[in-house]
Amino acid sequence: MNDSMMTMEKKMIPLLDLKASYQSIKEELLQAAEQVLEKGHYIMGPEVLEFEREIAQYIGVKYAISVANGTDALLLTLDALGIGPGDEVITTPYTFFATAEVISRLGATPVFVDIDRDTYLIQPESIEQAITPKTKAIIPVHLFGQPADMDEIGRIAKEHGLHVIEDACQALGASYQGKMAGSMGTAGCFSFFPTKNLGGFGDGGMIVTNDEALYAKVKVLRVHGSNPKYYHAILGYNSRLDELQAALLRVKLRKLPEWTTARIQKAKCYDELLAHLPINRPAANKDREHVYHLYIIETEHRDALLARLNASGIDSGIYYPVPLHRQEVYRGLQYEEGSLPCSEDAARYGLALPLYPELTDEDQQYVVDTIHTFCREMGLSQ
Ligand SMILES: *Cc1c(COP(=O)(O)O)cnc(C)c1O
Repeated sequence: MNDSMMTMEKKMIPLLDLKASYQSIKEELLQAAEQVLEKGHYIMGPEVLEFEREIAQYIGVKYAISVANGTDALLLTLDALGIGPGDEVITTPYTFFATAEVISRLGATPVFVDIDRDTYLIQPESIEQAITPKTKAIIPVHLFGQPADMDEIGRIAKEHGLHVIEDACQALGASYQGKMAGSMGTAGCFSFFPTKNLGGFGDGGMIVTNDEALYAKVKVLRVHGSNPKYYHAILGYNSRLDELQAALLRVKLRKLPEWTTARIQKAKCYDELLAHLPINRPAANKDREHVYHLYIIETEHRDALLARLNASGIDSGIYYPVPLHRQEVYRGLQYEEGSLPCSEDAARYGLALPLYPELTDEDQQYVVDTIHTFCREMGLSQ
């Protein structure tokens, strides 16, 4: 190895840079953590209450109830709505597993309908076709940060008397015709898993709603079904957001608008830089604000491109490799290969590129240059 090679630093670009995010607000975070540790009130203290109030205000709803994680946000909401054995819940197979898992966990049956090929969002027409007398709810997922077609979904739900539970775990801060993701259905569910747009330092979740009865029920469910304490009329869960997480998330929430703007700007930058390459870019509907939890491109040469990016020190990811209707656990539901083709193709060809508020222009250009070189080598472009 010669001198010039020794000094040449190999580039490493992560998919998401959690350490950079931490470093940018380290002092404020440590101060917030210290205050909680000093006070000695670690469960359901004032930080949790304040964080719930701030989220309710940010989303523009009456109530926000924090829980242990995004999965529990969905689970407790469905449970509170009385969904259980014999019921069907319509959702998308192109999402994180938790969306369907909670339906099955309560003894109900997930009914998978396909996505729009361009936006990855659940197809309203397919929802309508899948409704049966057993259908109780629809769970649209605002996938990758883009709100689903809430007008159409809301109309269908109203016509058939169904609940809409928005899985907004990837879409905090996104909006649809000016309405915040999470505020349009019976309830909206959020996750503060570290990689989400508002990520904590551990697990966390939130349910938002304007429905007072649902709010009251979920509040009881998250503390073992007790009301008052030590009196149990129903079975519940132990599902609370830690005081420490709430304090840290409050610090990060103040930065969220700025971070969201940076994500959108960097996504637009990818859009422009990749425009002349034979690579499919994300389709963003004009009537809604996409907050780019993930920036997904598509190519038929996905696996080769993934290998090439990794070899160049660029982290990239597959979201998601197996659509839920084809998961082993759901074999019993008998969805054949090819039954939901758009979801299957998305799983086959999609690839997430590095995107986070701290991503530098230089690193972003390097990602694009690497893709460009790949396309040239494959004979796909000049
Ligand atoms: C992250 C996520 C969840 C689950 O959230 P956790 O906090 O990890 O339990 C559910 N649905 C979607 C779409 C998600 O992205």
